[in-house]
Amino acid sequence: MAPIPGSGLAKGLAVTLRTMTRKSVTEQYPDALPDLPPRTRGVIGLFEENCTVCMLCARECPDWCIYIDSHKETVPAAAPGGRERSRNVLDRFAIDFSLCMYCGICIEVCPFDALFWSPEFEYAETDIHELTHERDKLREWMWTVPAPPALDPGAEEPKEIAAARKTAEKLAAAQTPQAAQTPQAAQDESAAAPAEPREGER
Ligand code: SF4
Ligand code: SF4
Repeated sequence: MAPIPGSGLAKGLAVTLRTMTRKSVTEQYPDALPDLPPRTRGVIGLFEENCTVCMLCARECPDWCIYIDSHKETVPAAAPGGRERSRNVLDRFAIDFSLCMYCGICIEVCPFDALFWSPEFEYAETDIHELTHERDKLREWMWTVPAPPALDPGAEEPKEIAAARKTAEKLAAAQTPQAAQTPQAAQDESAAAPAEPREGER
């Protein structure tokens, strides 16, 4: 059946009218900052103290955009007769965000919780080389990493927290009798101690 003349125009106008009556979804960035979810993949922060230079992140990165340099250092034996140990010392840690595709694999595979997502995204540069963030800059991003979400109320207590709580309870239990005894013990000690000779008695 042949289309009714002008029906295309009517359909187009109907779409225009429908859209005109809807609320606009345009974000007025940069005047109004977007309300991003806390787990947004904006930039990667490095918590250097946790990094053992295991190289897993650099090996697993599909874009090969993580650059790590390190050297080995000998640590003397902890006890006499013990063996010396060697450990990796980080010299360079950099991520090239001009290559990064924000897949998050590096963060997932890091066994030592040294990499974190931050929702910060305002780091555009006019020079592409500036998008390689070196270790100091990656460390600065750590300040923008949001706190982890609260645990589900019904969730099992994490093993680390349970262990820390038990240790704190043991310490508190060990200190309580001592604290209770301390004033009495101080009194007993002062009563038992010989009196200091006075100036004229010497
Ligand atoms: S997010 Fe993905 S692409 Fe980016 S550095 Fe990590 S592993 Fe590489
Ligand atoms: S995987 Fe983690 S610990 Fe290993 S080199 Fe990368 S950031 Fe460091």
